[in-house]
Amino acid sequence: MNHSSEQQNKEDSELARINAEVSSCRKCPLYLSRKKAVPGEGNPRAEVMLIGEAPGRVEDETGRPFVGAAGKLLDELLHEIGISRGNLYITNVVKCRPPNNRDPTEEEINACKPYLIRQIAAVRPRKIITLGRHSTRVILSLNGLSFSELTKVRGKVFKINIAGVNADVYPTYHPAAALYNPSVRSVIKEDLAKAFSINKGGSSILDYLNG
Ligand code: URA
Ligand code: SF4
Repeated sequence: MNHSSEQQNKEDSELARINAEVSSCRKCPLYLSRKKAVPGEGNPRAEVMLIGEAPGRVEDETGRPFVGAAGKLLDELLHEIGISRGNLYITNVVKCRPPNNRDPTEEEINACKPYLIRQIAAVRPRKIITLGRHSTRVILSLNGLSFSELTKVRGKVFKINIAGVNADVYPTYHPAAALYNPSVRSVIKEDLAKAFSINKGGSSILDYLNG
């Protein structure tokens, strides 16, 4: 076994270990009301990681991220730009559902944050798409960056280093915000398309799709 596949196996078993720890985690009060924890899922070698806020009702019932209404919309947008979930790793800032979908508290976010950092260290994505204000705030704050409104940072790119991983962060709106707002929908689609274009040598996934 060569060095890099050995390293890869280590990282795959780290993801499995994180999943197991999250599934039985009691580090914050959200464990009391969850049905299933939602560790995250996807390609363990994904170049792009998507980070949402917290599981909703359907995620809590199934243990899978973004499978409710917002997840369906996200899948539609990904499909429209020619990306499948198999290209991605998808997770959330907090892994258990806050009661009645309230915002996660600072304590809950801090308790859960080590799992997210370990997931980033294991997957080593080149790009991170943060979905919504909370996810964007948590990721940018890991590098001491802050912002006043999501509107001011979406569509921009931030270079960050988390746990030794250098990644470009692409903040955008949360897909739930697009459910009843077609203009938000097209902005998210535009931001996703930008994040997925690979500008190495001037060609991109979009160039490829456009022939
Ligand atoms: N909203 C999120 O932020 N994450 C999910 O997994 C589902 C809905
Ligand atoms: Fe543990 Fe995170 Fe769930 Fe809290 S939200 S119980 S820290 S996995």
